[in-house]
Amino acid sequence: METVNPHLVRIELSNVNAFLWLGDGGLTLIDTGYPWTYNKLLDELNTIGVQPADLRRIIITHADLDHIGGLKGLIELSDAVIACHAAEADFITGERPLPVRRSFSGRFAGLGNRAIASLYKPFVEEVQELLLDKEKTPEGFTVVYLPGHSPGHIGLYHKQDGLLLTGDAIINRNNRLSLPPRLFTLDERQAIESLAKLRKLTFEMACFGHGPCITEGADRKIKAFLDSLS
Ligand SMILES: [Zn+2]
Repeated sequence: METVNPHLVRIELSNVNAFLWLGDGGLTLIDTGYPWTYNKLLDELNTIGVQPADLRRIIITHADLDHIGGLKGLIELSDAVIACHAAEADFITGERPLPVRRSFSGRFAGLGNRAIASLYKPFVEEVQELLLDKEKTPEGFTVVYLPGHSPGHIGLYHKQDGLLLTGDAIINRNNRLSLPPRLFTLDERQAIESLAKLRKLTFEMACFGHGPCITEGADRKIKAFLDSLS
């Protein structure tokens, strides 16, 4: 567990991150790890005196199993409102399966993921809050719609705190910025095009779905990474 700033705690769950936002309006969890890291998530929350029932809201960046895995368990123990992008909600309720990449290997990987999801059934009955691009959340985040890795993938930008949460739009595995694995990215060209939005934002810190946060000069580092893609 790592305190990123006075409002944000990073909770490392195996190789994926969840984040706890501690704001004036209460506690918000951002992403929930794998189904099999659920107990670790509860333990980590408990270490800082947080019980699932204390959560006011849960924001999901996208519906991959490593981000929604703890969701169902959490809402059985809390009245937290679930929020995600409008284009991602059906994949969180299981109404529709996440679309898979068209290439042979992508289809293979996607169908493998679906099989694992159907084994764990991580879906919830309802997503109460459907977010759209540029929408302001009660935490003070601005929703940054970054489709590509999945149809309704979002990042979260907190101007006041100088903070960007990228979800899996950019990851920082082994302290190296990269795109998420191509095999698990629905539309890589769209994913790269989406990232152009980040160039206009100013932020000192950035946190990622995978890997450590960058705590200084994050916007500069991300812009350099984007330059390296073109
Ligand atoms: Zn992920």
